[in-house]
Amino acid sequence: MRTPIIAGNWKMNKNPQETQEFLEAIKGKLPESGVEAIIGAPAIDLNALTWFSKDEPLKTAAENCYFEDAGAFTGETSPKALSDMGIDYVIIGHSERRQYFGETDEDINKKAHAILKNNMLPIICCGETLEQREAGKAEDWVTGQIEAAVKGISADDLAKSVIAYEPIWAIGTGKTATADQAQEMVHVIREKIASLYDAATADKVRILYGGSVKPANVKELMSKEDIDGGLVGGASMDPESFLALANFNK
Ligand code: PEP
Repeated sequence: MRTPIIAGNWKMNKNPQETQEFLEAIKGKLPESGVEAIIGAPAIDLNALTWFSKDEPLKTAAENCYFEDAGAFTGETSPKALSDMGIDYVIIGHSERRQYFGETDEDINKKAHAILKNNMLPIICCGETLEQREAGKAEDWVTGQIEAAVKGISADDLAKSVIAYEPIWAIGTGKTATADQAQEMVHVIREKIASLYDAATADKVRILYGGSVKPANVKELMSKEDIDGGLVGGASMDPESFLALANFNK
């Protein structure tokens, strides 16, 4: 049984004061079981999240990290430091990081190893552009991204990790992939994991859909066999909306 995940991605939004206000608003209202609620926040907001998560059923995610634990890497965030402060997950390979910051498949693979070595779990993002989809190249592109990202990762580690399929044309556009389109690609990813590893690993890894997920469409997406949750940008910023998503199965 794969526990569903609702993971917020605040991107470069909210300061520590706004984070505190958000946390006050969701206090005592997250599901105690049945769903893993995660918030991915800017590094400057993570301290507030880890304190909150000591008493509340919330998991925490950084939105990026470097692949070295320490050293002369000005401006980067250490995976070891994130782990020491109690962070659970790190989002890697988000299309915005690939597009604006030149993150490569090789970087993403190195980051995945560094995150797992530091006892956190990666949320590995993948997804195609509209041009790739229209040219019939989406499946090859996405499975190629996954194969590169998981290189050298053990089956045990991958089974605990999370993959997020986020078609780039659906991120922040209000244009959601249909639940069938999302299911289709998530299934392809699971089959790819089965071919790279084995059926048991593919059955355990949680695969999320991301791209304009909101309270109005979460139920339908979650009803699909292979979709284990959502990675949510815009609709995770408002406490009521995040709570509605986290309580999608009530
Ligand atoms: C995201 O940030 O990963 C995302 C899917 O954004 P949105 O939900 O706003 O489309």
